Amino acid sequence: MIANVLTIAGTDPSGGAGIQADIKAFSALGAYACSVITAVVAQNTQGVRSFVALDPAFVADQIDAVLEDVRIDAVKIGMIANAGIAEAVADRLRHHKVARIVLDPVMVAKSGHALLDPEAVAAVRDRLVPLATLITPNLPEAAVLLGRPDHWTADDMQTALPELLALGSDWVLLKGGHLAASKESTDLLAGADSVTAFAAPRITTTNDHGTGCTLSSAITALLPGLGMVESVRQAKAYLHAALGAAEALDVGHGHGPVHH
Ligand code: PLP
Repeated sequence: MIANVLTIAGTDPSGGAGIQADIKAFSALGAYACSVITAVVAQNTQGVRSFVALDPAFVADQIDAVLEDVRIDAVKIGMIANAGIAEAVADRLRHHKVARIVLDPVMVAKSGHALLDPEAVAAVRDRLVPLATLITPNLPEAAVLLGRPDHWTADDMQTALPELLALGSDWVLLKGGHLAASKESTDLLAGADSVTAFAAPRITTTNDHGTGCTLSSAITALLPGLGMVESVRQAKAYLHAALGAAEALDVGHGHGPVHH
């Protein structure tokens, strides 16, 4: 059976990140893609210029329109923009009793532009994280969620796992790509009684726009058919291949997109 998966996120009109990356990853992995838009973003490979967040009630209406009609096997949540949208998404996902929720706690674009209102961090942490099957923070996002400094060692990553799980998701994938000057990039997947380390050689490329969106979407597309550890393993292999294929693209003058 083909999985129906939904992304709830912001847009990227240049096609590399956000909803557009999510739909490409879902489709490449054989899932049927649905999408609810939280914010319309004016951005390209060079950065975010501005965005308009949609009315929370209208985001809720989009979610209801999909979930009252389409069987959804997994949901990915990306850019949430503000506390009102966080509340609306949490309310509708609880109402519809969605089975698998992957939350990418998007906060700041690589260009430095905030994609989440700083006052909305508490709403994401307290309303959305507890609904999530998996959260996929990078190290800066984990620091904000835990209210700790954004200075990390490999040991700090291990000790942060139980603290992140205590926020209420079933699983945490803590992405180590921001760890200073290591030849490998290690992500740690923690569940109630297991920790799995995924180490990969660090890829040095500027074609890294939308990598976080792509990874969380790939996991979401795979989860209905596979267990969590295997979904993450295959999603990481998918992202690795998409990063490797990015050189074939000639898209923009900044951080280019990966090739799905
Ligand atoms: N734009 C949107 C709408 C996103 O959801 C995200 C997600 O992380 C980004 C941009 C991030 O882009 P970048 O990978 O360039 O930081």
